[in-house]
Amino acid sequence: MTNVDTSIRSGPAEALTAALGDQVVSKDPRLLELYGQDIWTVGRRPVAVLTPADTVGLSRALAACDRLGLAVAPRGGGMSYTGGYVSDAGTVALIDLSRMDRVLNVDADAMTVTVEAGCTWKTLWETLKPKGLRTPFWGPLSGVSSSIGGGLSQLNAIFGAGHWGTTSESVVGLTVALADGQLISTGARRKADGRAFYRHYGPDLTGLFCGDCGALGVKAEITLRLMRSPTHEAHGSFAFNDAVPALSATAEISRAGVAADIYGFDPALSAMRLKRASLLQGMKALGAIAASRGGLMKNMAAAARIAVAGRGFLGPEDWSIHLTAEGRSRVGVDEDIAEARRICLALGGREVEASIPRVVRAGPFPPLNNILGPDGERWVPVHGIVALQDARAAYEGVSALLDRLAPRFAAGGVQTGMMLTALSTNALLIEPVFVWPEARRALHDATVEPGVLAKLPRHAENPQVTELVAEARAGVVAAFTAIGAAHFQIGRTYPWLDSLDGPARRLIRAIKAELDPKGRMNPGVLGL
Ligand SMILES: Cc1cc2nc3c(=O)[nH]c(=O)nc-3n(C[C@H](O)[C@H](O)[C@H](O)COP(=O)(O)OP(=O)(O)OC[C@H]3O[C@@H](n4cnc5c(N)ncnc54)[C@H](O)[C@@H]3O)c2cc1C
Repeated sequence: MTNVDTSIRSGPAEALTAALGDQVVSKDPRLLELYGQDIWTVGRRPVAVLTPADTVGLSRALAACDRLGLAVAPRGGGMSYTGGYVSDAGTVALIDLSRMDRVLNVDADAMTVTVEAGCTWKTLWETLKPKGLRTPFWGPLSGVSSSIGGGLSQLNAIFGAGHWGTTSESVVGLTVALADGQLISTGARRKADGRAFYRHYGPDLTGLFCGDCGALGVKAEITLRLMRSPTHEAHGSFAFNDAVPALSATAEISRAGVAADIYGFDPALSAMRLKRASLLQGMKALGAIAASRGGLMKNMAAAARIAVAGRGFLGPEDWSIHLTAEGRSRVGVDEDIAEARRICLALGGREVEASIPRVVRAGPFPPLNNILGPDGERWVPVHGIVALQDARAAYEGVSALLDRLAPRFAAGGVQTGMMLTALSTNALLIEPVFVWPEARRALHDATVEPGVLAKLPRHAENPQVTELVAEARAGVVAAFTAIGAAHFQIGRTYPWLDSLDGPARRLIRAIKAELDPKGRMNPGVLGL
């Protein structure tokens, strides 16, 4: 290794290259631009991007940054929008986990799987599926690019969450690299191979790092619990002529515990989703799956029904909720959907063709073309997680704000929509989204498929309307805070620290000081 002190004179990036080599360190200006932004935030460019190949390389990279006095920020797939890895706190080296993307070990005896933190949800799913195995929560819709480390660091909703809750609820143990490069292991571990097999042995050190947005360390390796893949699934979609019964139905279906995936859309979001090509692509995926399984007649029939229903199965004013039940028997999953049907019909809903959940399950990790609006606009969500009985009040608080802003939205061309999703039997996530005309950034260009990008109009820089969206996002967060909502993806956006009482705040600050005494690990994230 070259003497680091000598190299410092030429700048931190050069010193890092001298210490770690140019296989690991990049100063490519295009990469620095790309990694200095997320889907919402354009922040400071990092001084360098470090891409370690494995856990030992990650530990070395952090130790080198520590010696140089450089702050670091970890990035998985970069598919977030709350400033989680985009630091505004001065010079930062970005730790890119994208080369640490392997499934290290599938242990069907212990029923665990260990991955490197940069492994995508899609890679994990593709590895486990042929073995008849799965993790209980098995990914967000962004799972083609988003990483298990990113998901665990800011927590997730969607696949399997209705039954099994969020990402962290499947985790058994972690290997985390601290700011100075030291490695810390959590979870009860077998003597034979040192792998975590069970999460709980004393206070939950694993939980400390779940949802930390990389404030406490960089996850290097993650061990998750496995389950045998459910052998049967059934789908249901229901339409409502108003938000309140749709929210009530979603909450009651959660309480009943009958659906593994539960999500709903307001009329505006349905219109946006149905306008774009992704549903048609999904239908093709469904057809391909039916064909690849040797023409499973049921899938073919479902694909045909979807094609017949087309995009017209929802009325323009309909709220809709979409469900997938899964289990070990046809009777069981059909009974689960029957229970959901009873709930929805009793609340004034009507059953519609279950195109959306079928298409989503047929191709769960599609390309992320949705990071732009259907006409190439910018897109950003914001959310709150509420107790089931608070869903209506939360919705009304947020809606009142959006109604107040409606004339300014109309003048600026801002469209809004709303998504609902459930987390196990005891929480509901409400997610307003904003779509507005604004120039796209390097991250959009790097993410949307080139063929799709080429067809989308470009918009001019539009800082005033983007400022309006920022104001609306902050207003939504305040409306959620008013009823005690929680949030995933805290990043530099949600006021988590303020929600803690004094002793809890002191505790987390003491933990941060112990693990990162120089305050160099993703400074500012979580409000720390
Ligand atoms: C089109 C689209 C659809 C989406 N759908 C969903 C959805 O269905 N459900 C959902 O929950 N979210 C969804 N998201 C939001 C987002 O993709 C997820 O939150 C995802 O988990 C982010 O993972 P990532 O690897 O991209 O994380 P990044 O954006 O890279 O990082 C997120 C945070 O985690 C930290 N971090 C990343 N890796 C590590 C690590 N190894 N160790 C420590 N800290 C780390 C970062 O510093 C940052 O604070 C969606 C986003 C898009 C663009």
